[in-house]
Amino acid sequence: MFDAETSAIRTDWTREEIAGLYDLPFTELLFQAQTAHREHFDPAEVQISQLLSIKTGGCAEDCGYCNQSAHFDTGLKASKLMPVEEVKQAAEAAKAGGAQRFCMGAAWRELKDRDVDAICEMVSSVRDMGLETCMTLGMLTPEQADKLSDAGLDYYNHNIDTSPEYYSEIITTRTFEDRLDTLAHVRDSGMKVCSGGILGMGESREDRVGMIHALATMPAHPGSVPINALIPIEGTPLEKAPKVDNLEFIRTIAVARMTMPTSMVRIAAGRETMSDETQALCFAAGANSIFYGETLLTAGNPAVEKDRALFEKLGLKAMGAGHA
Ligand code: SAM
Ligand code: SF4
Repeated sequence: MFDAETSAIRTDWTREEIAGLYDLPFTELLFQAQTAHREHFDPAEVQISQLLSIKTGGCAEDCGYCNQSAHFDTGLKASKLMPVEEVKQAAEAAKAGGAQRFCMGAAWRELKDRDVDAICEMVSSVRDMGLETCMTLGMLTPEQADKLSDAGLDYYNHNIDTSPEYYSEIITTRTFEDRLDTLAHVRDSGMKVCSGGILGMGESREDRVGMIHALATMPAHPGSVPINALIPIEGTPLEKAPKVDNLEFIRTIAVARMTMPTSMVRIAAGRETMSDETQALCFAAGANSIFYGETLLTAGNPAVEKDRALFEKLGLKAMGAGHA
């Protein structure tokens, strides 16, 4: 059982222990998660990351939740890899808007060697602006991971999405093990891992336990753990999946915080449809990272204004650069 007095960083969690944390009375769960949070972080600080899609749509994978898969007709228009100059401009705007980390995502099954040089140039120019860099480009070979690491990439995102058992219900074009292999290459290259999953894909509580277990028993905890709530998208197999209960989402944040106490736990996709109260409970449960919108945001964007107002109401402040 979790012991706040002696909360060592453990990678030997059992599924039973994690299921036990999920079952705690909600008030006790929040107290324990908040205690773990305060041991390692200022509870009033939230990291702000901004996301840019550098290559949209037309993806060869069949992830059942994704509007970027070429397997489903979602009406999304595919685009080519964005030129480096445009990426730089977007990063400048993100920095001016207060972002600490700039995350660049491509709808690829895997990184192709022909694109490595352009990607490395994006990484080094964004880094030179003083932003932390994160990329999510699909599967990597060990050599590609080394090249990205040498270019100065801080984080690589590669979500495990769900439990090992439920994975094949959601994606058939790759396996859970493929995902773990890329994560191992990222770790071996010295980059930090960003890995989490999605709730609300029709999975059971046991699957949520299995997902947290897989993350919390990796050789080292991911530096960032994004927890997404499914955004149901018309035309995808999961368009009618039952919405995850908000309290279950908050419980998952709390359990992630307790089992991986030094990781940044991020409320990722799905935040737009959450009430201020739900988000406040997520922060109280130990979430300390958010995405500032899904696309490039410019001053005056209503989503940004809404977030500023929420931070104001909750007395939260943006985390400065240089954190874990
Ligand atoms: N192609 C790369 C990959 O899959 O790793 C990177 C891009 S992909 C869009 C990044 C992550 O976004 C996915 O792993 C998934 O967890 C999340 N995601 C995608 N579509 C989503 C949706 N409709 N709702 C919630 N999360 C979603
Ligand atoms: Fe979407 Fe990434 Fe899956 Fe491609 S690999 S379908 S972009 S989640």
